[in-house]
Amino acid sequence: MKVLLLGSHCDDIELGCGATLDKHRDDWQVTCFVLSNQGRSGMHADLWKCSLAAFQSLGISNVRFGKYPVGDFRAQRQAIWEELNTINQQVKPDLVFTQEPDRHPDHVVLYRETMRVFRRATVVAYRSSAQSSPDFLHNTLEVISQKNVQAKLRALRWYKVYSAKRYFCPKNVIAQLRVNAIAIDQEFAEAFRLVQQVNLSPLITPAEKGGLGTEVEECAETVASKLDQTQLVPIVHANSRSPSGDR
Ligand SMILES: [Zn+2]
Repeated sequence: MKVLLLGSHCDDIELGCGATLDKHRDDWQVTCFVLSNQGRSGMHADLWKCSLAAFQSLGISNVRFGKYPVGDFRAQRQAIWEELNTINQQVKPDLVFTQEPDRHPDHVVLYRETMRVFRRATVVAYRSSAQSSPDFLHNTLEVISQKNVQAKLRALRWYKVYSAKRYFCPKNVIAQLRVNAIAIDQEFAEAFRLVQQVNLSPLITPAEKGGLGTEVEECAETVASKLDQTQLVPIVHANSRSPSGDR
């Protein structure tokens, strides 16, 4: 499955999705696009290097960085739309992670432009921190293991410049993952808001999809043969796609 993760700032994706990315490092084909490559007002000019190292620690090498100035995405809205549109044509993602439109104005711009561009994909919103999204309401939980949690913490350690921030504190990161998981009686989970789902099973991995597809095809053929006998046609193939290959 082709998965695209979008982040306004270095650290957003790792904070919101780091453990999930580790969990799926072998079954997702991941592309990350971070719209800014440094801190606010030009601080931490090399912040993208921390981000790249963090992604690499999660097994992700396909990372792009934009140069949109932090805090000024609204003025760049059209340029952001155009760049996202280009990425959409190149990647054709099945699943897109974008940011919750929370208190940070850049996150709002990214969310809105995501929804304008990725109309054919399933879209999930993530919370980068409880500081920017204190009222985040999730409806989707990804169960993660202790190993995934450790991988997320290892990735975040690359951001030494932010180590004093409360939402970077490992104890707080772990606490949030534990609280997320209480409702589903698990130990750890990352929380998301499913914004738009295209097809009923886009979150199934390709291997599972193949297996399921075979069963569904056989089932559809059996039903079709029976229906042919009773003249009840047409049958819509369960895995049918448009001639153009569009989803
Ligand atoms: Zn951010």
